[in-house]
Amino acid sequence: MSEINILSPHVADLIAAGEVVERPASVIKELMENAFDAGAHSVTVEMKDGGATYIRVADDGRGMAPEDAGIAFLRHATSKLHDEAGLEAIGTMGFRGEALAAISAVSEVELVTRRRGDESGTYMTLEAGDIREMRETGCPEGTSMVVRGVFFNTPARLKFLKSDRAEASACVQAALRCALGRPEISVRLIRDGKEEFFSPGDGKIDSAVYSLLGRELAKDMLPCAAQDGDISVRGFISSPSAGRGNRAAQFFYCNGRYIRSQLLQTALEQAYRNTLLVGRFPACVLYLELSTAAVDVNVHPAKTEVKFSQEKRIFDLVYHAALSALQDEDRIGLAASPAPRENSVPASVRAISAARPASRPDFYRSMSSEAFRARGYRVSGSGGERKPSGDSVLRSYDEPYQTRLDLTSVPSAPPIRPISTEMPEKGDKSQSKSVENSVQNVEKNAIPDYRLIGEALKLYILAEVGDELLLIDKHAAHERMIFDRLRAQDRSIMAQTLLESVTLHLTPGERELVEAHASLLAELGFELEPFGDEDYILRAVPADMASADARAAMEEILEKLHGGQSPDPQGARDEILHTVACKAAIKAGWDNDPLELQRVTEAVLSGKVRYCPHGRPVSASLSRRDLDKLFKRIL
Ligand code: ADP
Ligand code: MG
Repeated sequence: MSEINILSPHVADLIAAGEVVERPASVIKELMENAFDAGAHSVTVEMKDGGATYIRVADDGRGMAPEDAGIAFLRHATSKLHDEAGLEAIGTMGFRGEALAAISAVSEVELVTRRRGDESGTYMTLEAGDIREMRETGCPEGTSMVVRGVFFNTPARLKFLKSDRAEASACVQAALRCALGRPEISVRLIRDGKEEFFSPGDGKIDSAVYSLLGRELAKDMLPCAAQDGDISVRGFISSPSAGRGNRAAQFFYCNGRYIRSQLLQTALEQAYRNTLLVGRFPACVLYLELSTAAVDVNVHPAKTEVKFSQEKRIFDLVYHAALSALQDEDRIGLAASPAPRENSVPASVRAISAARPASRPDFYRSMSSEAFRARGYRVSGSGGERKPSGDSVLRSYDEPYQTRLDLTSVPSAPPIRPISTEMPEKGDKSQSKSVENSVQNVEKNAIPDYRLIGEALKLYILAEVGDELLLIDKHAAHERMIFDRLRAQDRSIMAQTLLESVTLHLTPGERELVEAHASLLAELGFELEPFGDEDYILRAVPADMASADARAAMEEILEKLHGGQSPDPQGARDEILHTVACKAAIKAGWDNDPLELQRVTEAVLSGKVRYCPHGRPVSASLSRRDLDKLFKRIL
């Protein structure tokens, strides 16, 4: 007797089903995608408990004819793919013809569907993949599918389901991801009889973000859009001040499909380098659109992984889109758009759109009084005792100020033009938008009228700007100014020879690091020379720094290089420049000349200096309203 046997179709179905239906959330995803593919305008999803008991997805899409309903649940039954050539360019969410087969194989399904224009519809029930009942019925156009008892016939799977709570939250996540991917489709999720979310389906990304992710997240989002030939990206990314503890709020879509992508994640996060605190992650909702032939979605049955044929172009596009959104942080905020189904938008979320005077600086928006109070500024870099070298701030302005975020200074920037953040419109509208944006950019850097009040606690600069009291952490702001200047410099950084060279006793590991980064250190102004077997002599440091800080700076740099947080050369360069900027900046406790304070204030008011290189904000503001509230003049 042979040992090999061919599995029965039933067992084969169960095995295949496992790949598509991992948990109840997969049922929601697959049914919603089918509704989207059917051209629905509105979709209602209902679930009970953890989803395993009851899931219903109803749409107003094109529906199915009785004969199609009869075969839709067979494996490889699909209306979306006809032949091999079709695989080259998938334009629908589904195409494998597996979902209904998989779902029905492991549950009880009830289908009610009516094709658009047909007089009557079809009612059908299935159990473990077999049709139990099928008859004509009266029903609305569209499709409604109820799935009960997921995994009722596969105890092994059932055992692996988590608590109802965990499964339910996975279901909500799955529905949210789908809904967020299609701002033009209205989605309502009802969980245990209560509405969990509702998206208006007006085609606007901002209303989708607002209604699905909530006001808290939406108010900190910046519009982001760029195009490179036939590839475009648009959406929103979070302001650096709204970094999050994990990546759960990163949503990437490719042609409407939610995807996980290391490539896109890295591109996004690189744009935040030097503005986001270590260990914090940006949030985003980004829609990548590209020709269906340039992306392969047929990598895994769940289709959340894709392969791009031009990874580099896509990486660059997303990176530069994010970078320029961060640069234009002052521009139109998401909060400016009318909030769907929510009239009581608080003042902090109010319009900061085009209606706002273009010259108002960013900090107006970036910080509420709560945020200000919540922030106990701490100053890195000890110092404190040493008197400033007198003109340290003035000196850093000897060279024209250049912002790190200047797109033109980024090598190999692809041709990118800002586009509208609305859903793409074919036509020439985007052209005029981009002109509008560039005009705003120019005006943005104008410095508003201000009055320098002075300095408090030998650290915080106080200034009055319009109706607001501006507070600036002078060290953090100056640190950013120096960092940006050094970073924008493409020639070597000017070094100063130390009058008394510093002997560094290094461990073998540290010596290796110094050797590995020798040319980088030299380029940045650190002149090191081996001395004996174990020592190095530090002969010069960057001119911006005080020589007294030479040893401490070098030790800090070695520690950072050792930590190896940034293995890439640009990262290592930035780390070193952080240290130099920190050491070179004016410090808490120093007496600074009013002219120095003025320079720092103006740099902040220009909108170019917002976060210190570690990602801490450099300024905060209190409005008259905030102050009036503080003194109970108003309630
Ligand atoms: P796929 O989506 O990969 O084609 P499915 O198993 O999910 O495979 O669905 C099989 C077929 O059933 C689809 O191709 C479609 O023709 C039909 N179908 C499924 N859901 C719907 C729906 N909500 N409205 C209309 N047709 C549907
Ligand atoms: Mg499908």
